[in-house]
Amino acid sequence: MTLLYRALVAALLLVVAACGEQTPSAADEASPAKKPVRLVAYSARKEHLIKPLFDRFTETTGIEIQYVTDSAGPLLTRLKAEGDNSPADLLITVDAGNLWHAAQQGVLASTPSETLAERVPAHLRDDRDRWFALSIRARTLVYSTERVNPDELSTYAALAEPAWRGRLCLRTSKKVYNQSLVATMIAALGEERTEAVVRGWVDNLALAPFSNDTKVMEAIAAGQCDVGIVNSYYYGRLMKQHPDLPLALFWPNQQGEGAAGRGVHVNVSGAGITRASQHKAEALQLLEWMTGQEAQQQVMALNLEYPVNPDTALLPTLKDWGEFKADTIEVSEAGRLQAQAVKLMDRAGYK
Ligand code: FE
Repeated sequence: MTLLYRALVAALLLVVAACGEQTPSAADEASPAKKPVRLVAYSARKEHLIKPLFDRFTETTGIEIQYVTDSAGPLLTRLKAEGDNSPADLLITVDAGNLWHAAQQGVLASTPSETLAERVPAHLRDDRDRWFALSIRARTLVYSTERVNPDELSTYAALAEPAWRGRLCLRTSKKVYNQSLVATMIAALGEERTEAVVRGWVDNLALAPFSNDTKVMEAIAAGQCDVGIVNSYYYGRLMKQHPDLPLALFWPNQQGEGAAGRGVHVNVSGAGITRASQHKAEALQLLEWMTGQEAQQQVMALNLEYPVNPDTALLPTLKDWGEFKADTIEVSEAGRLQAQAVKLMDRAGYK
């Protein structure tokens, strides 16, 4: 009996040691700020895209980061369910629509920061400082260098013209990237004109919409269609694996006045600090660090996305893709108009 008791006590001590819990000393209690802080991040970004950044931040600051990865929807549901008891300090996700929804649901805190105001352009952050972009993602045109002369290309809307009948490939309208693209088109062109464009796209499809951007490019390379709409980092990823594919990027909406010259549709990855966070200062330190030069270089190298901080020098690969004018619409419009965009795409028969 005594032996069993001792074994239990020993096991318990081991568990306590493994958890790293220690009885706080009098000194620690007198200065709670000295206790090591561990941030908890809920991330819809995949582990291989965030862990290297977190590791570097921890090396630099001593602040550890624990993270949970899942899709944006479940993470937001979880944050809402946990409410003020949530262990999460940060929500990290892609797409301005997702960030906008999180802010609307009231799970994010307003955390103004002069540093973030300097480093993140105003149209790429929440006007009430509840989320900030960390990288820019350009959704642009990709074409067959064998069957398309880039002079034939101009705007997203022009892909609805009869010249592209049977030559267009698109990813599914269920993907938030396309919902955001169409949402910003509604803002630029109005609902009626946008619906006509989307109907034209559907008429021009060579094949049923694909489940991802890479399949769109593979279909173009295989000769099944000639042009498509993709995020540039997917192009970078595919060309790294298969440099000889007869594909190239085209930056649309660069010429002309008004909607036609509004620039390439850009979306963001971004993050906000949760309302429940007990470590808002440290969480803000992480966001500020993520928008600094070192982290911005790392973000580019990890996934070939564009830096949000305009002072960042571009990677050679991104430079090779050429300069472009980006749409400067508030990215939060993608969230505000998302439901309208989804209904519009449904009416237009875009699956
Ligand atoms: Fe993506």
